[in-house]
Amino acid sequence: MEFKEASLRERKLYYHEEWNKNDVPEFIIDRIHEREFAFDHDGNGYNDRYKEFKTVDLFADFLVKNFPYAVCTSVSFYSNPKNREEWKGAELVFDIDAKDLAVKSCYCKEGQVCEKCLTEAKEIVLNIKDTLIGDLGVKYLSLVYSGRGYHLRVYDNEVLSLERRSEILEYVTGSKRPKEQIMFLSHGYPAVYRKMFVLTFKKMKENDLPFNKKVVDNLLTEKDIIISKILNCNPNYLDLKGIGDKTKNEFLTHIEKINASLVDGKVTVDVKRILRLPSTLHSKVSMKCVEIKNIENFDPLKDAVPKFVFERKD
Ligand SMILES: [Zn+2]
Repeated sequence: MEFKEASLRERKLYYHEEWNKNDVPEFIIDRIHEREFAFDHDGNGYNDRYKEFKTVDLFADFLVKNFPYAVCTSVSFYSNPKNREEWKGAELVFDIDAKDLAVKSCYCKEGQVCEKCLTEAKEIVLNIKDTLIGDLGVKYLSLVYSGRGYHLRVYDNEVLSLERRSEILEYVTGSKRPKEQIMFLSHGYPAVYRKMFVLTFKKMKENDLPFNKKVVDNLLTEKDIIISKILNCNPNYLDLKGIGDKTKNEFLTHIEKINASLVDGKVTVDVKRILRLPSTLHSKVSMKCVEIKNIENFDPLKDAVPKFVFERKD
């Protein structure tokens, strides 16, 4: 499948014939009047901002008239969204973009995505979702296919008012190794860290390891054993011939850095962020941004491709 840009005619076709207001998620419609809307009309950025709509029908009218290139809403709620006055909380959001993954098992060039790295982005998002529910007790969240990756949007009341979000980000991505004494606790953060370590390490190839050839060969040859040892809580999981404490330390720091980059941190910590609205078109790649009802069966190449792509002749 080619991820080609949508033409003006295709955008019009999409908003006139395919888009349906019932595809706008309930978590948006519930408080639609409190969100800021932002539009990119020509692919040059979100220059039409600070719009508000009292109802989804008024928003539908706007879409049919303008068939914009891209549509975002704020993740935050305001008494007066037009002026972004009186902030009333914001969803907690995790943005995992397949094109930005530092480590992937495919050979995509920078900025590109394929079926394989989209699947790996999905695997990351599912692991973060499990941690949010299992460890942090989150109850209300939605998964969204963003067009080139996934958004995880949490809207529990307790979460909306949080202003500092970087600790949560560090926790769910496992981007700081636990102290040695607690590294193998069966639950809590150490378990999250081990799970995320494995998720990243198992995808690593030669180019992902900035060490000399001997160390790289060693780590890659022993990869399955290292993974099995850490999963079995064996404290000697990194005891390899020719790899001293200094290299071990550098390797663990390297994994920490990669895990910290799994999620676009700027999106999570910014409580006034705008984010692509599910149901609308990601025109740059001609895919729909959609709320995912059943992640197990979700296939972006089937469920997020607008009809006009199948009708293309070239
Ligand atoms: Zn790829």
